Amino acid sequence: MTQKKPVKFPAKALTSVDALVAHGVVAPDAGASLRQVEENFSIRLTPETFRQMRSLDVHDPVFVQYVPSTDELHVGDGELTDPIGDEAFQKIKGITHRYPDRVLLKPTHTCQVYCRFCFRREKVGQADEALNQDEVTAALDYIAQTPAIWEVILSGGDPFILSDRRLAMILDRLGQMEHVEVIRFHTRIPVVDPGRITDDLIATLKRKAAVYIVIHINHPNELTDAVKTGLARLVDAGIPLLSQTVLLKGVNNDVEILAKLMRDLVRARVKPYYLHHLDKAKGTGHFRCSVEEGQKLMQALRGRLSGLCQPTYVLDIPGGHGKVPIGPVYLTPDGEESYIVRDYLGGSHTYRD
Ligand SMILES: *Cc1c(COP(=O)(O)O)cnc(C)c1O
Ligand code: SF4
Repeated sequence: MTQKKPVKFPAKALTSVDALVAHGVVAPDAGASLRQVEENFSIRLTPETFRQMRSLDVHDPVFVQYVPSTDELHVGDGELTDPIGDEAFQKIKGITHRYPDRVLLKPTHTCQVYCRFCFRREKVGQADEALNQDEVTAALDYIAQTPAIWEVILSGGDPFILSDRRLAMILDRLGQMEHVEVIRFHTRIPVVDPGRITDDLIATLKRKAAVYIVIHINHPNELTDAVKTGLARLVDAGIPLLSQTVLLKGVNNDVEILAKLMRDLVRARVKPYYLHHLDKAKGTGHFRCSVEEGQKLMQALRGRLSGLCQPTYVLDIPGGHGKVPIGPVYLTPDGEESYIVRDYLGGSHTYRD
């Protein structure tokens, strides 16, 4: 399916194999096998993602994130429908409550793009997964009745899919709960649909509670001028921005690329938060790096890049046991109250406690 001819630039999002073929994004003869992929996993690419592509082939780090591949038909060892155990902690529809002080609130399962490696890929894009008005109210009631919840994380799907009116309704209700002090959004929309960052959206987000936004971004090519402008408007409006990146083979498993991404983010006033080890969702094996490779990349970033540019490398433990940092490890016990500490260049030093 390698085809490098320029596209008929899509004026709106492409949402099917047929549309991809019609726009010359995939070759017509690849269409038949990709339709099998389409049956299981939704497809959607915004015009902005095409601006971020430099070439229309699998070597392009933006192309591979969204254009389906027959590799997705291969379900590898240990790959699961619910790789991080969200279901086990689903209290009521739309609420995942795993840690005592914070909950995920997932009002929609729709996104502006469908990433081929998504950990919720069997849920996103399914209309019946979205919450109706009564279900949203019930989810908000759960939060209202649970005083231990200090932070509400709006996730999905992509919460910025919701209209300003629906967002305002949810935020108004959360604003009435004294125990909810922080509201966090996890979203890919600032990166794939920067036009959504309007004055009205920003006005909707300004609240008494602290509102944070965590953007999902995986490659420096995703930081176009339009994306940077949208991010700047959010920060200028006083909304702190963080980023999360998924470690992906063929996209960003390279120290130069990760270093550039993290620096460009900090330059755009976005603090790198997490580098995620890829969750074991079905049909994502072609994107997977080993933990050892991830640790080596993290070690290479340490010391070489400002501390502001360092994300935490995390694994979401399959089965719903939560996220934990997975290294690299700098400190190893060495007898009573003594450790060997490794520096960023690889040198070893003894540290007595
Ligand atoms: C990832 C996640 C969170 C947020 O974790 P942080 O470490 O605070 O970013 C909260 N709840 C669930 C269920 C999660 O999967
Ligand atoms: S935007 Fe997020 S939730 Fe939606 S498909 Fe991509 S990774 Fe999954």
